[in-house]
Amino acid sequence: MLVIGPSKAVKLTSKISTSKQIIKLVGKAIGDYSLVENNDRILVALSGGKDSWSLLYSLLALKKRAPIHFDLSTVTIAHDSQKEYLEQMAERLRTDKIAYRFIFSDIPSIVSKHLTEGTNPCSFCSRLRRGILYSFASSEGWNKIALGHHLDDFVETLLLNLFFNGSIKGMSPKLMADDGENIIIRPLVYVREEITSKMACEMGLPVVSCGCIFEGMVNSRRRWVKKLLSDLEKEAPNVKSSILSSMGRVCERHLLSPIDKKLLSRLE
Ligand code: SF4
Repeated sequence: MLVIGPSKAVKLTSKISTSKQIIKLVGKAIGDYSLVENNDRILVALSGGKDSWSLLYSLLALKKRAPIHFDLSTVTIAHDSQKEYLEQMAERLRTDKIAYRFIFSDIPSIVSKHLTEGTNPCSFCSRLRRGILYSFASSEGWNKIALGHHLDDFVETLLLNLFFNGSIKGMSPKLMADDGENIIIRPLVYVREEITSKMACEMGLPVVSCGCIFEGMVNSRRRWVKKLLSDLEKEAPNVKSSILSSMGRVCERHLLSPIDKKLLSRLE
């Protein structure tokens, strides 16, 4: 598989384990976007899903060989019905001597109570979680928050905005959060979703599910985009890598300038 980022491509071979492939891709993303700097204090948002586990273990592997110093810890925003799963997570984290914190919040009830028509529960939930995460990171002195969004999330988000919001807007591997206090990093930018499950399996990581009544209610537009991409991949296998590359090669001159926009509105 050839994964193309905005700088050089990384050639992946099937000879190395999936975990090593992911660590290599994470290392490349860190280098390309300066995601980790000396003395950073990085908080990994660990949901217990395959993506966040892969992210955590990749960062741990890179920390061991990094020429710089950075601190790593994890936080999980959890709810009561996950307690049984959380014990498995805690056991693994303790065994591997990884610092962790579980913050309990009854988010599914809040979502049920305040969900408005047309809003996807998981999108609403993720906004609530983000709020808790950001305030925890700021209050505990973590300067960066690492999120487990992968290549597929980057591509799907770009297309969702393009098709349904009329904007060319995706995700950034590194950005200042809306609250102006936290720097968000997404080191899995070059990693395909399908391989994070393999890494979790290879390392025997206890992948946990949300365990909430809304589980499985994927946003219908996102499901449609996923299906569209999977159909496109049958004809053009590198389509996702190519879309990701395009996010780093924007030719503004060949898009609409403010003058073009005025012209367009007169034509409408
Ligand atoms: S399924 Fe998970 S992400 Fe969706 S609302 Fe429930 S806890 Fe939140």
